[in-house]
Amino acid sequence: MAFMMGELIYLDNAATTRVSEGVLAAMLPYFRERYGNPSSIYEFSMQSKKALVTAREEIAALIGCEPSEIYFTSGGSEADNWALCGIAEALGSKGKHIITTKIEHHAVLHACEWLEKKGWRVSYIGVDENGIVKMQELRRAVSSETVLISVMAANNEIGTIQPIAEIGQLARERGIYFHTDAVQAFGHIPLNVHAMNIDMMAASGHKLCGPKGIGFLYVRQGIPLPAMIHGGGQERGRRAGTENLPGIVGFGQAAHEAKETMQERAARQSALRDYFMDEVCRRIPYVRVNGSRKNRLPNNVNFSFQFVEGESLLIMLDMQGICASSGSACTAGSLEPSHVLMALGLPEEVAHGAIRFTLSHETTKEEIDFVIDKMEEIVAKLRDMSPFYEEIHVKNAKGAGDLR
Ligand SMILES: *Cc1c(COP(=O)(O)O)cnc(C)c1O
Repeated sequence: MAFMMGELIYLDNAATTRVSEGVLAAMLPYFRERYGNPSSIYEFSMQSKKALVTAREEIAALIGCEPSEIYFTSGGSEADNWALCGIAEALGSKGKHIITTKIEHHAVLHACEWLEKKGWRVSYIGVDENGIVKMQELRRAVSSETVLISVMAANNEIGTIQPIAEIGQLARERGIYFHTDAVQAFGHIPLNVHAMNIDMMAASGHKLCGPKGIGFLYVRQGIPLPAMIHGGGQERGRRAGTENLPGIVGFGQAAHEAKETMQERAARQSALRDYFMDEVCRRIPYVRVNGSRKNRLPNNVNFSFQFVEGESLLIMLDMQGICASSGSACTAGSLEPSHVLMALGLPEEVAHGAIRFTLSHETTKEEIDFVIDKMEEIVAKLRDMSPFYEEIHVKNAKGAGDLR
């Protein structure tokens, strides 16, 4: 239908989003008209400097911090790496223990693995079957050696929203710094660094209809985080290099738009998300919704279909012009099942059958209906080819079985 008209049904907004028209319009002048370096002294550069100030203010307003606590980076990965490796470097003499979770993005997990090679101890806290961090386990992991807790605000694969305020409070009580990878949460759900006791927070422009290649690390005033890049005095001496002004302006505009629309978009997307999950569960047997139903990003849907390979489903959806994902974009194409789904305790074959759809504010009910129809067809077709399915299906002749 839509594809025949040459249109995509793009349901991979956790991988990246398309910039909004407002974001593009805000960025364009900063390529050819207002190209001045914000650090220069003449009048021509003042508009660049002003734009930099405004973008920082827009972003700070969304998380309740001071503009001077926002440090622009090249994206979420850089911000995560900076927080973890920087704190490790600054506080290594105090203690060499970091606490994180099993379901973090690789930007955090691989930074932790690198630190382990350098002699750090890292505790990877597990999650319950809904993908929520086990608070008991986290509490028990804290020791006098712990200098940092890093727990993501919301998961990129299964959309679970973590009890960030509770973790922030625990960290504060124990005098431990708390970093959160909020790349999937920023601009999508409310965040407040004071109410949640967050010391450092990573976010990225391209996950909220801003441009790629721009992100920030929020660093609470007074935290001894060393410089990320040495050079000029940009970003208050902590992250040198002439600013990516078009990117920063676009990110600021995206934050502004998110602030204006978050509530309304979240309500609309959650309703569509729930409809999508309910319909699929009603129409297709042996399906599981991965992740919490309750504490869930408004735009995230993640299913496992038993007796179906996620990859095969993806390829067949692609032939219909539907973009979805199995696991995260970074692990897609690898044969390993997702570390997030394995952490939920799913059997490997169920983890392999997982597929993620992430909606945007532009997603329509017509698109979702089209996708559900196609999924029903494709899953049935793939199962017809599965000898296991036939066996189980005949056993449960009623066909009412499911994995929930
Ligand atoms: C996308 C993503 C990142 C990486 O951000 P980039 O800007 O692409 O480097 C980090 N963490 C999470 C949770 C993400 O979804």
